[in-house]
Order: sequence, then C-alpha cells, then structure tokens
Amino acid sequence: MKSKSYYRKEICKLKDKIYSLHKHAIYDNSSNVIGVMGVFEDIVEKKEKIEDGNTLSYIINNISDYIVLKDANRVHLDCNNTFLQDLGISREDFVGKKIEEIPELNKILKHTIEKDLETIKLGTKQIYNETVLYDGVEFDFEIIKEPFRDSYGNLVGIIDIARNVSHRREVEKLRLDFFANLSHELRTPLNLIFSSLQTIDVLEKDLLENNSRLKKYIGIISQNSKRLLKLVNNLIDSTKFDSGYYKYEPKNDDIVSFIENISMSVAEFAKQNGICLTFDTDVEEKIMAFDLEKLERTMLNLLSNSIKYNKSNGEIHVLLQDAGDNFNITVKDSGIGIPEEKLDIIFERFNQVENRFTKRSEGSGIGLSLVKDLVKIQGGSIEVKSKVNVGSEFTIKLPVKVLEENNVLKEQTYNNLANSSEVRMNIEFSDIYL
Ligand code: ADP
Repeated sequence: MKSKSYYRKEICKLKDKIYSLHKHAIYDNSSNVIGVMGVFEDIVEKKEKIEDGNTLSYIINNISDYIVLKDANRVHLDCNNTFLQDLGISREDFVGKKIEEIPELNKILKHTIEKDLETIKLGTKQIYNETVLYDGVEFDFEIIKEPFRDSYGNLVGIIDIARNVSHRREVEKLRLDFFANLSHELRTPLNLIFSSLQTIDVLEKDLLENNSRLKKYIGIISQNSKRLLKLVNNLIDSTKFDSGYYKYEPKNDDIVSFIENISMSVAEFAKQNGICLTFDTDVEEKIMAFDLEKLERTMLNLLSNSIKYNKSNGEIHVLLQDAGDNFNITVKDSGIGIPEEKLDIIFERFNQVENRFTKRSEGSGIGLSLVKDLVKIQGGSIEVKSKVNVGSEFTIKLPVKVLEENNVLKEQTYNNLANSSEVRMNIEFSDIYL
C-alpha cells in the first residue's frame, strides 16, 4: 500500500462528535489507485495532545489558506498540508527545492520569484494579487510575503500566505454593474433636462431677454445640470476603466492642430474670466496615432483645473514638444500650486488638496484620476511639478506611433458623446465659478 502521496485530512461531525478523518489512497502493485481508506480520529480524545503544543500546527495544517516557508535563498523549507493537497504535490517533491525546480508550480505562479526577491531586497512585507490558472479554471489569490527573521533580526527566510479570494470577483462585478446601471439611469434624465434648456435658450430667446429673473434661474438650472452631467460622465468612465470596458480607438491625425483648436476655444472662455491662455509648439504639424475623444477629455480636464486653481489675472501656457519617441504636451499655470506632499495623491480617485486658499470652484476629485487612466490607456504617462503660490505644470508624454492602415474613426462615435465640442467644453468647465 502506497498511501503517502494521496492523503487528505478533513474535519467531520458524526453523531454530535467531531472527528478528524484521515483519507489515504490504496494502490495495487502497479501503483493504480484501487480504493480509499479512512481513519476517524477522535479530536476530543486528542485534545490533550493538541494542548500539548500541537494546537498551532493543527490549525496551520487545516486552515484553508496556503502557508509556505522558504529560506533566504528561496529554497522551500516547509508548507501546510492544505497547500500540498490542493495542488496535488507531495512534500518530498516540494521541500528542498526552489519554485523554478517544480515546473508545474512555476508555470502557474508567475510573480513568485520577482516578489520573493523584492521581499529579500527590501526586507518588508509584500502584498499583491495574482490570478492563477489551474486545471483550466482561473482563481484569484491575495498573497502576502512576510520576511522571516531570526532572534537577531537577520532576514533568514520568507513566509508566504496565499488566500483564495475568487469569490470577490463576483461581488466586484455586481458592484460595477450596479454602478454602471445607476450612472446610465442618472444620465438619461439629465440629458433631457439639459437639451430642453438648450431648446429654451434658442427658441425663447426674447422671453429670456425680457425677464431677467427667469434668465437667472434658467442659468442656474443649466449650470448645475451640466455639473451633474460632468460628475455622472466621470463616474461612468471610471467604472468603465475598472471593469475593462474602456476601448482605445486611435486614429492618425495632426496632434498639433488638434491641441491648438482645443486650446483656442478654452482661451476664449479663460479670457472672459480674466485669465490669459497662450499656445506654443516646436513643430508645425505632427501626424501620429492618438485617440481623439480621450485626448480631448484629458486636455479639457487639465485646462479646467488650470483655470479653477488659478489666480485672478493668471496665465496658462500650453506647450507642445516633439521629443522623438514621445510627443509631450504641457499645461502650465500660474495658480495656487500644490504642496509637495500632496503631489502623489492628487491622481488618486476622490483625493483633493484641502485647505485651499481660495474657494473659486468645486470638484469631485475624479478628474485627475480619470486623466491618469486616459493617458495610460494610450500608452503614455503624466508628470506634475508644482510650487505653492507659483503654479503647476502637468506634462503628458504620449508614445509616437503611426497606424499602418488608418483606422478611420466613425464620426458618430465621436460626435455622439455630446453634441459639439463647445457643449463638451461647457460640461467639463461647469464646476468653475469665477
Ligand atoms: P477636482 O474635481 O477636485 O478638481 P481633480 O482630480 O481634477 O479633482 O484634482 C484633484 C485635486 O488636485 C484638486 O482638488 C486640486 O486640489 C488639485 N489640483 C489639480 N489641478 C491643479 C492645479 N492646476 N493647480 C492646483 N491644484 C490642482
């Protein structure tokens, strides 16, 4: 009988008593499994033994998390039974080896080596998520790598704890679907309010001109429905990013004239608010592949911030630079600036710099996190430099690529987003009160 490699321990209840059930496979002489032998062990009777100091090892071996101990050279020292049972490997095949010597594990645990080396190098706990494909099924794991130290504080190994969190995927999907549905439900009535207001503005111009109170209140309704639309649009887009629905739709076009046109229409708006916007470029024309809609959203978000957080009689400079592999777009303002310690958090969703000197605007803290996602989906990056009371400078670096076969962007996709570029700008700038 060869019972070592196929063994499983389960806890079961029989006639109100708790037993530990040890299952061993029974083999014939040719190593074929011909049966299973089960041995029930009375845990209560065993209690004495458990209390003798075996309690911890009993828990470790029966917990559903996987626990692995390695030395500082990443050689496996030990692991719990659950790990061996679920992965179908024997302790002999695991202990004394590195993961790269066990192909079936190395194949599915793609980040283990890199994360082990990071834990050893940094000497700090690493927490990450990994999706593992096992037997054709995807499992999500949350993995903790904890440095293991001797009593002198020297790092002598790593403890891995892996928890199967696949159930979270379903919950996350439900949350995202709910959010996406809710946002769409909110957008529909808002669009109707907004378009009715636009119609009143055109068809009832005389009535509005002769009734200043009506004009004022229609103005407030209009401004606030645009603000709500901006918020809902941003929420929908963030949700789309999270669920991976956002599509990158590049097209070959002249990026210089594209940014210049956006800057010029914003310049008009900025001028009405006492802010001077200038545009400068080191190339006349640059045909490259970029996603028009995403770049426009990015620019409008950055420009709206550079107006919102500017000072009276402030300035904004839009600078374009052809840097070979990259095309750089800089939006620089002479505004209130961002404290150094806040520079990292402004790209996180819902994060805003508090204690502003001026309260000339309101926002949701979604804009820059969306900008970061919009730039990332185009393969680019964004950097910020800022000095309090002097101003801020956001630079986007987009990789220069030209599509071989011009993917002609369907006009409707672009136009359907919101009637015209002017309307899109109005929505994007609706939370500016100067
Ligand atoms: P919000 O809707 O609050 O503007 P954002 O994500 O666009 O959200 O910006 C996050 C925070 O970063 C803002 O609340 C503001 O404090 C700061 N910020 C963004 N752009 C600028 C800028 N050009 N100048 C100063 N502060 C800025």
